[in-house]
Amino acid sequence: MKRRSLTSVDDLQTAGLIEAAEAEGLRDVGSRYAIAITPTLVDLIDQADQHDPIVAQFVPTKDELVQTADENADPIGDHAHSPVEGIVHRYPDRVLLKAVHICPVYCRFCFRREMVGPKGDGTLSADALERALDYIRAHAEIWEVILTGGDPLVLSPRRLAAIMQGLANIPHVRIVRFHTRVPVVDPGHVDQVLVDAIRSSGKTTYVALHANHPREMTPEAKSACARLIDSGIVMVSQTVLLKGINDDAAVLTDLMRTFVEWRIKPYYLHHPDKAPGTGHFRVSIAQGQAIVGALRGTLSGLCQPTYVLDIPGGYGKTPIGMATISAQSAGDYLVEDYRGAKHRYTDG
Ligand SMILES: *Cc1c(COP(=O)(O)O)cnc(C)c1O
Ligand code: SF4
Repeated sequence: MKRRSLTSVDDLQTAGLIEAAEAEGLRDVGSRYAIAITPTLVDLIDQADQHDPIVAQFVPTKDELVQTADENADPIGDHAHSPVEGIVHRYPDRVLLKAVHICPVYCRFCFRREMVGPKGDGTLSADALERALDYIRAHAEIWEVILTGGDPLVLSPRRLAAIMQGLANIPHVRIVRFHTRVPVVDPGHVDQVLVDAIRSSGKTTYVALHANHPREMTPEAKSACARLIDSGIVMVSQTVLLKGINDDAAVLTDLMRTFVEWRIKPYYLHHPDKAPGTGHFRVSIAQGQAIVGALRGTLSGLCQPTYVLDIPGGYGKTPIGMATISAQSAGDYLVEDYRGAKHRYTDG
């Protein structure tokens, strides 16, 4: 029988992941933010590790009830850029298509934590999906459609194939991209039927895998990614920089190398967003820059993610790694090598 995910404070207590004494205090967290941990992840937890990275990412804590004044239910301004339900159109050439607001796991630091989950924005109805596709059809500048949410790979292969069929018939859409955690948190779900559904638009298809710690990178997850890649899908990674989990150059080195060894190109390292009750996960930008700076030069260029901040308010993402070039005067620069030595460069 397929084991089910842990989805409540009671489930967590029964599984021995929280103490009875803690459970009471966590009910408020559980009633506010969705909880889910897949059997695959439960099996990865090392109960002897006080800083287990799986526990830290998925088991709720009372810190989530601490909300600071600058935290926001919509930290990256999705709603401000949503012309029709299910679409976020912030950049000219690409849109998010949020068909579902369910995830196989609920990350405690989630930037869309007020929108995802059983009490979140819900799944697009057939009519709403048709209106979203109409919007894409009507905007010839949309070159890429990014399926996110929620996790689009929780949709049934049939539903996914129907969406892909809609996109297949829009000539100006050239790229379909999925953002997902499924290959890592439920690798067995990535079977041939799902892979075929993902590819069924016939468009060039990218899958961005969200993973944050080398402990998530199991042989089963590797096989799931290989099934996607071997079928012609290109994979990239995204990682959220998280205090106490991966704010460490050695951990990120291991993670980025694993991605590359699996044929997944590191894409983004996200500075954590100011979602409500996530302050305990946030590092400072100076810390982030120091960690990313330590990777530069010591780690293959293939392994370098771009460190980005999603500017609060919906202004989009911007690279925030330490600048390695500064202009002294017009056309006259100082550039810094990976050891920190400065060199002069002049134009012309
Ligand atoms: C992150 C994001 C994208 C994708 O940005 P890329 O830099 O292309 O990865 C697109 N639209 C919205 C609204 C986003 O938040
Ligand atoms: S998988 Fe993504 S959308 Fe879902 S809870 Fe985690 S961060 Fe949020």
